Amino acid sequence: MFEMPPIKSIKELTVEENLFPGTPACAGCGGLLTLRHCLKALGEKTVIVNAAGCFTLLSIYPFTPFKNSWLYTAMACAPAGAQGVRDALDILMRKGRLSTEEDLKVVVLTGDGAAYDIGLASTSGALHRNLDFYYICSDNEAYGNTGFQWSGATPFASKTGTTPAGRINQTGTVLLKKNLFEIWRSHNPPYIATTSPAHPVDLVNKFKKAEQYKGPKLFINLSPCPPGWSTDPSHSARFAKLAVDTGIWALKEAIYGDVKHTIVPRKFKPVEDYLNEQGRFAHLFKPARQEEILRNIQEKVNQYWNEVQSRESIKK
Ligand code: SF4
Repeated sequence: MFEMPPIKSIKELTVEENLFPGTPACAGCGGLLTLRHCLKALGEKTVIVNAAGCFTLLSIYPFTPFKNSWLYTAMACAPAGAQGVRDALDILMRKGRLSTEEDLKVVVLTGDGAAYDIGLASTSGALHRNLDFYYICSDNEAYGNTGFQWSGATPFASKTGTTPAGRINQTGTVLLKKNLFEIWRSHNPPYIATTSPAHPVDLVNKFKKAEQYKGPKLFINLSPCPPGWSTDPSHSARFAKLAVDTGIWALKEAIYGDVKHTIVPRKFKPVEDYLNEQGRFAHLFKPARQEEILRNIQEKVNQYWNEVQSRESIKK
């Protein structure tokens, strides 16, 4: 197996673009910024299979911001669509009607609604069949393009369209975010990683590393979403960085189940630094601080990193 040498700086990112400006996505969309980096790493020879979600609006005939090919599927079945495309490419190459140089990487692109909830069964099937594909989940932690309703990716105490915080329920979302990384890992695919638009070098290196593996290669990207998170669009990269710096979003990878954290802050910032500027968490601070909930969130993050520290012998 051949592993591409990692890049060390953002200056080494290719200047070649496969996603062009002028899309209908919201200003400051963290998912779009990430997608741009992903497509730099994946290159032009890809076909994207998109489950219904925010990114469905990117490519609407006859307009597209992509150099790549694009196929749109229903929310539940993008991995099944990817299976069909992969099979078609393999059959064409076997029959000599497509040269191996013309082969395409098959990339599923979904939001968290499809990844964590509606399309999970289809992904599980593709993982079980060891389908040779990439999966990018743009995780903005709710159903973004339909009004920011709760999804299985919504974090505890976040306010969404369907989990408002008010007099009856002051918490907002009472359930914990599903652990999709571990759900995927239980299928033992060759490669899984989490990524952040604030760490493009880490992101690109993960895609390059994943390239050497045949089988499912899966990525979950934390995607700041200004309208849903009620944040300033010009601060999306800052919020993505704060998520990593506070330890709320762990940057890691799993190669055939072996987990390693790729970026660990030397000193973790308090989670409040990440929460207190986001409208979706405003009820935790005003009209009165909800100390128990804030302590609970901090303790969960501490517990996670304490377990990581004992497992991976890293220093906080
Ligand atoms: S709703 Fe959020 S995730 Fe969807 S396009 Fe807008 S910023 Fe991006």
